[in-house]
Formats: sequence, structure tokens, C-alpha cells
Amino acid sequence: MRQHATNATLEVVCGPMFAGKTTMLLRRVAEARAAGMVVQIVRPALDHRSAADAIETHGGERMQGISVASAQQVIAAVGEARLVVIDEAHFFGGALAGACEALLHRGVSVIAAGVDIDHFGGAFEPFPALFAMAHAVHRLQGTCARCGQPSTHTQRLVPGGARIVVGGAEAYEPRCAACFEPSAAD
Ligand SMILES: [Zn+2]
Repeated sequence: MRQHATNATLEVVCGPMFAGKTTMLLRRVAEARAAGMVVQIVRPALDHRSAADAIETHGGERMQGISVASAQQVIAAVGEARLVVIDEAHFFGGALAGACEALLHRGVSVIAAGVDIDHFGGAFEPFPALFAMAHAVHRLQGTCARCGQPSTHTQRLVPGGARIVVGGAEAYEPRCAACFEPSAAD
């Protein structure tokens, strides 16, 4: 059991692509700011799908944030914020779990969102470690593009064995576990 000397909390928002994770993040940011909390939004520099300094839903809703290259830079980006919101957390890899723990120790709350199952069908770091630390986990589902059941997996539609390939609807679609076909590794 990990000990935190502060009342900071870690919330995890996970699920396949196109499940509404960023929409939920933007709502939580708006609520926290309305309550007077200083919030910093952080996103991976690797994700070039939206403007470098903003997070954006597939519907085009957006908020300003900071683009960083590594989990260590997430800590450096905190500034005066009491809540750090991290989108596309899976792009940061396992190191993000340690960064989140360091933030909690400093009294900074964290909401981390991302894809918890990779396109091979395996657990996507840092989520297993984040689940173990989280005060709350919101597992969102979208709709399977094949059969209409709730989606839990992200189907890769283009060839290639790399674990992280940045892409949108041209490269991925949401599927249920029954319709999901794991990508083959190189
Ligand atoms: Zn399905």
C-alpha cells in the first residue's frame, strides 16, 4: 500500500480510442477551474494530431495545455497547478507512474487518461501501475465499429508492428473483445 502525506488524488480515465476520454477530461478541467483550482493540461509532444499546445476531442472541442516529451517533463510543467491533467498517458510509457507518484507526494492531484489495452490486446503501460495507485478509475466504452456492442479494444487498421503509431480514424477503430483482431508483432 502506497502512502501519501497529502490529500492529492489520482483519477484514471481509460478505454479504447473514440470512447469519450478527452471529453470527460475537458469537463473535469472546467469543473475544477470553476471551483477555483489551478489546473495544468499536459499532452505528449509525440501526438501531432491536434495543435501542439492543446487537447482536442474528436468533435473539435479544445483547451490549451502544454506539450511535453517525457514523464520527467510532466513534473517540470506543473508550475502553480494543484491539478495536472494528462491526456494520451500511454504515450509516456511506464515512467509516467513514478511521475504521478511524485506529484501526489507534492500534494498535486492528477487525472491521467489514455488507452489501457494496446492494439496487440495487451496491457498498455503505465496503466497497470496507475490502476494500483488510483483513487478512482473510470473505464469508458465506445461503440464497436463492427457489431455495435460496447467497445473495449482499439483495432489497428493499418499494417506495422510498432506499439505506438500516432493516428486517428484512418488508422484505428473501436471494437468489442469478440470483434477485436490483435495486430501481429514484427
Ligand atoms: Zn463487436
